[in-house]
Amino acid sequence: MTTRQRVTLILSGLFLTFFIVMIIIIAFNFRDFGIKSAEKRALLTAEVVKSGLTSHMVNNMMDKRSYYIDQIENIDNIKSLWIARAPSVIKQFGGGFNSEIARDEIDKRVLTSGKIEKVMTETASKSTMRMTIPFTASAFGTPNCLKCHSAKEGEVLGAVSMIIDVSDVRGSSLQTLAYTAIFALVIMLLVLLVVNRFLKPYINIFYSIKDVMKAAYNGNYSKRVDGGGLKESKDVANMLNSLLEKLQKVFQEIDKKVYIFVQNKNKEISSDPLVNINNTIDQLSEIYKFKQTIEHDEELEDIYERLAYVFKTKFNIEDFSIIEADTFSGIKKVVYSINGCHCKVEEGVCRADRINMIVDSTIFDNTCPAFEQSDLQYLCIPNSISNELNLIISVVTKTKEENLRIRNLIGLIEDYIATAQPSIVSKKLMQILNKMARVDQLTGMFNRKYLDEFVETAIPQALRTGTPYGILMVDIDFFKMINDTYGHDVGDETIRIISRVIKESIRSSDIAIRFGGEEFIVLLYNCDRAYIKEAAEKIRINFAKQVINAGSTKFSKTLSVGAVMFPEDSESVWKCIKYADISLYHAKEHGRNQVVCFDESLLKGEMKNSF
Ligand code: GH3
Ligand code: MG
Ligand code: MG
Repeated sequence: MTTRQRVTLILSGLFLTFFIVMIIIIAFNFRDFGIKSAEKRALLTAEVVKSGLTSHMVNNMMDKRSYYIDQIENIDNIKSLWIARAPSVIKQFGGGFNSEIARDEIDKRVLTSGKIEKVMTETASKSTMRMTIPFTASAFGTPNCLKCHSAKEGEVLGAVSMIIDVSDVRGSSLQTLAYTAIFALVIMLLVLLVVNRFLKPYINIFYSIKDVMKAAYNGNYSKRVDGGGLKESKDVANMLNSLLEKLQKVFQEIDKKVYIFVQNKNKEISSDPLVNINNTIDQLSEIYKFKQTIEHDEELEDIYERLAYVFKTKFNIEDFSIIEADTFSGIKKVVYSINGCHCKVEEGVCRADRINMIVDSTIFDNTCPAFEQSDLQYLCIPNSISNELNLIISVVTKTKEENLRIRNLIGLIEDYIATAQPSIVSKKLMQILNKMARVDQLTGMFNRKYLDEFVETAIPQALRTGTPYGILMVDIDFFKMINDTYGHDVGDETIRIISRVIKESIRSSDIAIRFGGEEFIVLLYNCDRAYIKEAAEKIRINFAKQVINAGSTKFSKTLSVGAVMFPEDSESVWKCIKYADISLYHAKEHGRNQVVCFDESLLKGEMKNSF
């Protein structure tokens, strides 16, 4: 039910109640008035009858009284009129003519009690009133009743009864009621019309505001309030409309401005700009928090861990790998993985990296040759971090639906990677710088700085776990001669050749270090006496086989090795290196091109030499 209908209904209800109450009051008053005026008429008539009878009595004309009574009975509305004598009067003067005796119980009661009685009789067509009024004896009036009547003061001498027709009172009251009702109804209708006409524009604007506000609540600020014809409602509508216009413009502007900061252009756009602004700000604040956190991370691994945490907890991705791809060397490295990387990316194949586009197995089966598990779906997202580095997020799902869900998150994933990009680049640079500081430029081998750090970090652990190392000190025999004979470049080439020989002669777990000039230290991991000898000999023999070009001539060189066992020969690595140097010296002293393993006896020679 609309407000207008409700107001009309309430007003009609009020009017109807008022109308009914008014009719009841009028009807009641009219009846009361009719009865009272009939009563008055009856009392007057009774008085007239009494006076007339007294006159007849005084003038000794009582025998003529019937004519008089008949005349009175003929008065309008008096249907019948009769006289009843009290028993004392009948006793004194007889019953009188026309049987002036009590006709009914009412007469008898009035003659006995001396009290007026009245009875109303109403039928559908007529209304009558019967009234019986007593005449009482009094010595104080004129004439004195007690002069003729042998009665006491106040004794009932007789009564006059009459039946009066009061139908005309009812008729006129009904007529008045009808006029009043018609008048009230007309007034009521007029009031309703005026109220309706007056309320209509206000109710219309109210509904229009309601519609517009509902639309605005749902994000549609384009609806406008209809002001109608009244000045006041037009003003209200104009004010609201200009406010809505302002809101619409401001929200759209804010939405556009804030949206620029988000990389994720696939985000779900709501029709409500406020919802969009809120979502974008939420997203920005999350990303800002992420950015602040990774800026304080020390290692690149921490940033990858942080990214993985976001993927796991925020996006509920259960299985994924983060892969670094070096754009120059083509080398790929899995830097983070939840369930192990499902593809052979480290063997060098990655379609997403090669074509620099998202690869999705749900779009085309077996797209990537590196992925072998046909029961799983994959979605690989490449991200360019720098000229040298691509980062591939490889998400693996069990169902196509889950794959689709992740596909819808790509924009957000890219947002986070873009945020992490500067930190990844700077950490990568740091890694390169750190590596450069620990790597010898001529040979690509680790340098002394690396050895210092290794001794500090790995050796205590080796001591704890009881892991032995073999330490070799390698030095080219008569190297100076090369420089002197063929020049520095040939000397450098010889150094490169010896470093290649050393690397090729040892295992990947062993570490080769350029200790200085043409002197190298080799750390043989988990080594025993047999292997230390074997590795040293292998280096010596392989180097001796090398043919070195010096312009038009070729030559070969030999080397000498001092070998020592850590921690067997000493628990101090630096002491071991010293022992290796003593052993090397011994090898040089005893003809070069040989491997000398450290022995306590060598220390005596050293002592001898130093004195
Ligand atoms: P020995 O058999 O006793 O070892 O004799 P040697 O001539 O090899 O003597 P030593 O090991 O002391 O020679 C070191 C020389 O290596 C001295 C230096 O001029 C040269 N040298 C050091 N670093 C470099 C380098 O980077 N390039 C070249 N070309 N020569 C270097
Ligand atoms: Mg030398
Ligand atoms: Mg040397």
